[in-house]
Amino acid sequence: MLTDIALSEQLDAQRDDRLRILIAGAGVAGITLASLLRTQGLHPVLIERMPRMEHPGYMLALMPTVDPALKDIGVHDEYLARSSPLSRYAFRSHRGRTLRTDDLGALLALHGDYQGIERGALLDVLTARGCPVSFGTTITAVGGDVVFSSGERSAFDLIVAADGIHSRTRDLLDVGEVSTVDTGWAGWVTWSDAVGDDPALGEELWGDGLFLGVYPVKDRVGIFLGGPVDDLTIGPSAFAARVRESAPGIGSRLDSALDAVTADPDPYLWPLTDVRAERWVDAGRSAVLLGDAASGFLPTAGIGAGMAMDSAWMLGRMLAHADRASLAAVLAEWERVEKPRVESAQSNSRLLATLMFRRGKVVAWLRETAMRVMTVKAVLGPIIRLIAEQPDPDAAATAVLRRRAEARLS
Ligand SMILES: Cc1cc2nc3c(=O)[nH]c(=O)nc-3n(C[C@H](O)[C@H](O)[C@H](O)COP(=O)(O)OP(=O)(O)OC[C@H]3O[C@@H](n4cnc5c(N)ncnc54)[C@H](O)[C@@H]3O)c2cc1C
Repeated sequence: MLTDIALSEQLDAQRDDRLRILIAGAGVAGITLASLLRTQGLHPVLIERMPRMEHPGYMLALMPTVDPALKDIGVHDEYLARSSPLSRYAFRSHRGRTLRTDDLGALLALHGDYQGIERGALLDVLTARGCPVSFGTTITAVGGDVVFSSGERSAFDLIVAADGIHSRTRDLLDVGEVSTVDTGWAGWVTWSDAVGDDPALGEELWGDGLFLGVYPVKDRVGIFLGGPVDDLTIGPSAFAARVRESAPGIGSRLDSALDAVTADPDPYLWPLTDVRAERWVDAGRSAVLLGDAASGFLPTAGIGAGMAMDSAWMLGRMLAHADRASLAAVLAEWERVEKPRVESAQSNSRLLATLMFRRGKVVAWLRETAMRVMTVKAVLGPIIRLIAEQPDPDAAATAVLRRRAEARLS
């Protein structure tokens, strides 16, 4: 559970820590890192811009890249209890017909769990052993000291900007160019209790200028209904009617999903843009970017949170080996090892976006022809390789420390 405490109390608690770490952003990445560091006896100061936890809930499909972090924090069983297996994935044509159903669970089982969970439930699970946070707090300046929005200031050995895709903390750091891909699409996100006959089935309809996805979490399904931004100005009800007209074969489960979008008085509208920072480490300020602040993802491969937790786990485990003297070298090594992994997953999401977010019946037909012949293993190949090749953070950190020791001796 997240406990809201005064910033001064958090600063007091960490006074004697081996490393004084500040984490800005109590989201998926920030909380994963804070909880991991707490298992090592550290007291990272965690701050969150929002006055309380009231983030619009949405569904997350989590790849096995998250398992090591959850196991290290000691909450993997809670995670399985609060999530739903995502065993099967169905691809539907632009007319709504199911073209193929793949056994994703079996494909990924070799590497771990593939689960659907509400974002709020994930944050509950990650903080099950307790996690202090100061809500309503941001960083306003990073110089010798960090200055907070409350006017308080303090020095830290490491600042972690984990404040999401629109990170403001990133703007205070020197991380080079921050580039973005804007698909020109957006989508409404909402929930439905109509889980259907197969509660472990995720489904996606890739249409002509529209996209409808249904993703199971525990006891309900998350829904995403998207299209080109200009087309969405007609509003959710009219857009849902357009989907029904162009895809008459969607069946009762997807029909209920459209009803849910229509019935939601204020569905969350998600603009489909991403972000990539040129550098993750600002050595001068001893600061790093983590999660979406470093590489924010398009939703196409469903792996943004998976990679954010992967990066947080790598960083947290590597920091277990660091002290003030070796910190800079360990951070540089973390960036060297982790950044290419995350960026290759992001490139995969960008590539899939060029397939998915396209208008035109001919494009839809070509996409469906390709999806008929391609195996899901081939489509997911790059992601599966990333999962299979998750690096060993302890080996990475100790190699750096050994190299430093050898350099000192020579
Ligand atoms: C609708 C939707 C569906 C998604 N589905 C999937 C999926 O199926 N699978 C998947 O792996 N990923 C998915 N993602 C992506 C995933 O949610 C993100 O990649 C992940 O949440 C990144 O974690 P983060 O901690 O970096 O950012 P966030 O989880 O966004 O957390 C950032 C936190 O920082 C806080 N903050 C912002 N500014 C400041 C500031 N200045 N100071 C302090 N705090 C601040 C925010 O309030 C927030 O709490 C989805 C995203 C969305 C929006």
